[in-house]
Amino acid sequence: MLSWAAHSLRLGATGCQGSWRSIATIISGNKTSKMVRERLKKEVEKMASQFSGFRPSLVVLQAGDRDDSNLYISTKLRAAAEIGIEAKHIRLPNTTTQEEVLQSIMSVNENPSVHGLIVQLPLDSVNHIDTDLVTNAVSPQKDVDGLSCINAGKLSRGDLSSCFIPCTPSGCMELIRQTGVSVVGKHAVVIGRSKIVGAPMHDLLLWNHATVTTCHSKTPDLPEQVGRADILVVGAGRAEMVRGEWVKEGAVVIDCGINHVPDETKASGKRVVGDVHYASASQRAGYITPVPGGVGPMTVAMLMENTVQSAQRFLLKSRR
Ligand code: NDP
Repeated sequence: MLSWAAHSLRLGATGCQGSWRSIATIISGNKTSKMVRERLKKEVEKMASQFSGFRPSLVVLQAGDRDDSNLYISTKLRAAAEIGIEAKHIRLPNTTTQEEVLQSIMSVNENPSVHGLIVQLPLDSVNHIDTDLVTNAVSPQKDVDGLSCINAGKLSRGDLSSCFIPCTPSGCMELIRQTGVSVVGKHAVVIGRSKIVGAPMHDLLLWNHATVTTCHSKTPDLPEQVGRADILVVGAGRAEMVRGEWVKEGAVVIDCGINHVPDETKASGKRVVGDVHYASASQRAGYITPVPGGVGPMTVAMLMENTVQSAQRFLLKSRR
């Protein structure tokens, strides 16, 4: 583990949030995601010049009209446009049936000019739609969210180079890499075991050679488990649940949580906090992600990365 001075020199971003003095180096998702997006933009420009205007293409399939989904989709479409990825938004009405969703997926699967397909979750329909059935209907070669059983299975077996890694865990790994702290041989603790965050994060850390403990709602001794973590990734959806005194000194703390809590000082009457109590955890951690501005921006950047990767795989296959 690096000294505190070296921490500050490496990322140069120690700072304060609230009234506590922050010791940990802040791992900025805003900065890191910008770097990723700039790199991808160059890669896309290179592809376009080498292959007569070829561009990666992404389809976002939505059912219904949820405000939160609309916001996430517009962020994804904007990021794609900035990078030069062609992105199309298919919106089905909230009366759509499972069969209609599956038909839309099949037609995108069969379209060779589309390299990435994501289904915006949750699906918003008056009819029952089986989410697992839908995510598994996406062709594994276009499943840039990495949510199909095929991609999840490959990841769990350590077949990292041939699968798509879910975007949030992939973004967390990129943030850990930014610290310069090696994962190899470290004890990593993941809180949460969902298909989208916790379970793939476990696999990713494991196959990057950490020794991994995964905790969930039935784990009896959470503070003790957290106290052993050289690297801690939290995706529990519980506002400020992880307290600073649980955190091992010098640990890398990655907070995926997005929770809205009441705050009368804000015009909206609420503010966003993570699953980690930032003020106290940043007193003990070596590196920590803020919320907002940590993991959040990385998720979209990694979706773009997967889409570009899918297009590159397509080009490789079509040249054989
Ligand atoms: P889920 O609700 O699907 O999963 C939460 C996980 O946390 C479950 O495995 C659950 O355990 C575990 N958990 C809940 N309470 C506790 C507890 N008290 N102690 C230990 N473990 C607990 O959530 P997601 O994985 O989808 O999301 C997790 C967080 O990450 C949320 O805040 C979400 O908003 C955020 N998120 C952020 C993204 C981003 O882009 N930054 C993207 C996706 C999610 P069990 O399995 O036993 O129920």
